[in-house]
Amino acid sequence: MNAPAPQPLVFHANRPGQDVAVRLAKVVSGAVMADAASCARYATDASIYQVQPLAILVPASDDDVRAATEVCTALGVPIIARGAGSSQCGQTVGAGLVIDHSKHLNRVVAFDASAQTVTVEPGIVLDELNGWLRKHGLWFPVDVSTSAQATLGGMAGNNSCGSRSLYYGNMVHNVAALDVRLADGTEARFGPERDMNDAPPRVRELVAALRSIGEREHDEIARVVPRVMRRVGGYNADVFNPQSERPYTADGSVNLAHLLVGSEGTLAWTRTLTLSLAPLPRHRALGVVNFGSLHAAMAATSELVALGPSAVELVDRTMIDLARSNPSFRPVIERALVGEPDAILLVEFTGDDAPATLRRLDDLEDVLANHGLERHLVKVPLAAEQKSLWDVRKAGLNIMMSLRGDGKPVSFIEDCAVPLAHLAEYVDRLTEIFRRHGTRGTWYAHASVGTLHVRPILDMRRDGAQKMRAIAEEASAIVREYKGAYSGEHGDGLVRSEWVAWQFGPRLTRAFEAIKDLFDPAGVMNPGKIVRPSRMDDASLFRFPPAHRTLALDTGLDWTAWDVQNDPRTGALSPPGSGGDPAHGFAKAVEMCNNNGHCRKFDAGTMCPSYRVTRDEIHLTRGRANTLRHALSGALGPSVASTAVRDALDLCVGCKGCRRECPTGVDMARMKIEFQHQWQREHGVPLRDRLLAYLPRWASLAARVAPLLNLRNRSPALAALMERPTGIAAARSLPQWRRDPFARQCATTDANADVVLLVDTFTRYFEPENADSALQVLRAAGFSVAIAAPMPADASRPLCCGRTFLAHGLVDEARREAKRMIDALVPHVRRGAAIVGLEPSCLLTLRDEFLVLGLGDAARELAGRAMLIEEFLAREQAGGRLTLALDALPERRALVHGHCHQKAFDVAGHVVTALRWIPGLDVEMVESGCCGMAGAFGYGVDHYDVSMRMAELSLLPAVRNAPADTLIVADGTSCRHQIADGTRNDRRRDAVHAIRVLARALPAAEHDGATTTVAHSR
Ligand SMILES: Cc1cc2nc3c(=O)[nH]c(=O)nc-3n(C[C@H](O)[C@H](O)[C@H](O)COP(=O)(O)OP(=O)(O)OC[C@H]3O[C@@H](n4cnc5c(N)ncnc54)[C@H](O)[C@@H]3O)c2cc1C
Ligand code: SF4
Ligand code: SF4
Repeated sequence: MNAPAPQPLVFHANRPGQDVAVRLAKVVSGAVMADAASCARYATDASIYQVQPLAILVPASDDDVRAATEVCTALGVPIIARGAGSSQCGQTVGAGLVIDHSKHLNRVVAFDASAQTVTVEPGIVLDELNGWLRKHGLWFPVDVSTSAQATLGGMAGNNSCGSRSLYYGNMVHNVAALDVRLADGTEARFGPERDMNDAPPRVRELVAALRSIGEREHDEIARVVPRVMRRVGGYNADVFNPQSERPYTADGSVNLAHLLVGSEGTLAWTRTLTLSLAPLPRHRALGVVNFGSLHAAMAATSELVALGPSAVELVDRTMIDLARSNPSFRPVIERALVGEPDAILLVEFTGDDAPATLRRLDDLEDVLANHGLERHLVKVPLAAEQKSLWDVRKAGLNIMMSLRGDGKPVSFIEDCAVPLAHLAEYVDRLTEIFRRHGTRGTWYAHASVGTLHVRPILDMRRDGAQKMRAIAEEASAIVREYKGAYSGEHGDGLVRSEWVAWQFGPRLTRAFEAIKDLFDPAGVMNPGKIVRPSRMDDASLFRFPPAHRTLALDTGLDWTAWDVQNDPRTGALSPPGSGGDPAHGFAKAVEMCNNNGHCRKFDAGTMCPSYRVTRDEIHLTRGRANTLRHALSGALGPSVASTAVRDALDLCVGCKGCRRECPTGVDMARMKIEFQHQWQREHGVPLRDRLLAYLPRWASLAARVAPLLNLRNRSPALAALMERPTGIAAARSLPQWRRDPFARQCATTDANADVVLLVDTFTRYFEPENADSALQVLRAAGFSVAIAAPMPADASRPLCCGRTFLAHGLVDEARREAKRMIDALVPHVRRGAAIVGLEPSCLLTLRDEFLVLGLGDAARELAGRAMLIEEFLAREQAGGRLTLALDALPERRALVHGHCHQKAFDVAGHVVTALRWIPGLDVEMVESGCCGMAGAFGYGVDHYDVSMRMAELSLLPAVRNAPADTLIVADGTSCRHQIADGTRNDRRRDAVHAIRVLARALPAAEHDGATTTVAHSR
């Protein structure tokens, strides 16, 4: 939350935003951008829309916003406020100055524990705020699914609602006051009307005029504003005659901040928010009710709500299946299922007393028993398991968006709110509408308040716009019949502002326009939203209009799995390569990013290390995907290999965090390889890249002159001298070349070896003792081992996975290496041997990139048997085939840092499993994200600083804090190097590969302690 140094102006001379950018750059200290790529990155949010802004300001302070407001008002340039940009309706896109408050304006300004209020700047993220409040036993309870991304300013802008709104209400029920700035520069606090007498004259007049509108429209408000809690469309003119099921204020008085909540940045800029807090719930109990049909689940909802839960949330069959297909969600969702339900309801109870809260699940069981459903309840009493299930539910929309092909679930009726009595019928009727239009919807979310999320699958490049309007018209008629709200959560934006007049009628629509004009007579605040809108199906505003085209591209990697179309009724995919993508699937893979912003996260996991340190949109997986998408559409020039894309990908460390954590599976590490390939093809390979890429080829020569090469580490002067020609940061130590590289080629041809050990370049030339340890452990466990070696006709150099070539885009060289590896190892695979490796980034290349190098079934066979050594040992142990005697070590604690690729493939846990076999060793996995070294990335003089900052996020502090006798374990060569470099100035810590620890614990090693034998028979 600290404000890093402001950034310079970036703009292109002939861009339309040049004027505003130039004027702004003179008066602000934050970053101003007006180049095409930056504008492209801010042209979209999580909606179907895309409008290029004129310029972007990332203000360093509120003074910057003040100055920008002056400039924009003077030039008549629209101001579009933006937080995480996770809006689904197009609220944050527009042809004006986008002001991104999320990077610097994110402090807690004031806190009053006794009043249970906090005042924050608009850019603070909900999870960060709640993390800060935890120590006070309080939280801000509007728990939106995007809690790790959503900023409080954006949440107020949209009148956001959380899963527990039944209990806590929406934003409007929880905002106490807003300090705002109007377009004319007037600053004032909007809060209880009675407290506004001291406001500036302009504001007092404004309030008086608002009151007179409220009084004039008193009856109309009562007549047309839906009486449901979940109504977020239009302006909250009903502050003067409240219609919300839940009162806005405890005493029925008027709070004018509530009129601004949900105004989507169209009335004023929010400078700070004063929020009402709630005590942290002490205990929660969760019951998962399994239903045979969606209709049955919906029909049961009002009876379940009558039990007084804090949430009742729906997950339907499609969502259950999608969650099952996601490796991180599968075990969680399967624990909650009874048989094969068509829908589940998550029913949560909250209370201060643990046993009493748990007993509420018995009440739930009793109600279910009345319907013969008691066996269909899964009780989830433990907080950790509850959280995992909520995480699946929160990821619901993102999971749904992972559908490949041009047809995508589109958000436009996704949050209609209807009274609970009509819920089941509403679902049936809407399902029938979808069927008639040749599509289907997936249902989930807030059953308790009648807001069901549903997105029919539409292809906006073809007939999506027509179907969208037709479905919207039919759906709205049902909503009206049930006296529901057309916009019950996500707001109006570009997709629904047109429907404000439909929902509220001409009279209130005029009143809304009058309200807008009172606040913003010049119409500069986010124009076209809520009042005076464009049409929802104006294709010129679409991200993928029917005219959308992609550049033809001859790709290095095989992307055809993405080059498909789907059947909107069944979700079935056409064969790979049939999708019509001129970039052979690369463009469609990039387009999988739907801009939901999930990568803007700082919680557990890896994604995205570069954004975590810079907080810049350009360094976010989303920013990179948007840049690539624009480049592939030709919007950034005639070639994809542009400097704009290169800059956006520069800090991508290829950690594959996004491969696992991006809900739609955007794999930027692989995309970077493809981009590098395109770049090298067009621009050639610079000497430094060539040197690093070809390291496996010249490593054997280097080993012969090891003492000479190692001199550089001992002489700071030499390191400094070499910095410029090599591009390697002088502050970095380099891996030490060994004169005694691993040279054994033992028994490679052993036709019966159980294990073929892959000794990668780094192990071979820098740490051969790791391979020795592996041999010791494997043999001690009774396995016969062969060392992977090339075919005799091709034995001039050792086998290599090609990682260094891939990292530099030299795909053809990588393919050559992969082919050698496949030729040499597949015969072993076919006779049932395991292919075991030590270096995660090398071994896992066999399971990942080898499959997209066009090497066919043999590559798949090899991938199926390639394992990291701990993974292999753990698998054997689980299968009862491992006998390994281990002694206790003098050290009693081990701290494990998982390599990013280990985490991406979900195999880091095996390291912990294997180390726990050592008697008395307390093993802990550090929640460490990326170490920041990432192969050669951290060595570069241009990356050194950011690399160290990545390491300092969590890994290095955890290592430094570990007691001196703790073993630091890291399987990645570069992770070990980073740990050594990052701690060398204080108490240097050397990390070791897990196999070295296991080898030390073999009984032959010299130490005391008991011997334990892992597992049973072989
Ligand atoms: C996968 C997914 C799940 C979602 N789940 C939920 C959910 O459970 N509940 C829910 O309510 N929403 C949900 N949303 C929508 C969205 O995440 C929320 O509305 C969120 O609160 C928006 O926060 P933000 O920081 O992204 O705001 P933005 O999208 O950046 O902005 C939102 C609005 O606020 C305005 N604004 C931003 N800052 C200011 C400011 N300083 N002054 C004035 N106006 C400002 C913007 O102009 C815009 O109109 C979901 C979206 C996605 C993609
Ligand atoms: S990259 Fe993935 S996580 Fe990030 S916005 Fe795109 S889809 Fe969401
Ligand atoms: S590979 Fe890693 S650094 Fe690159 S975008 Fe994905 S998460 Fe970010």
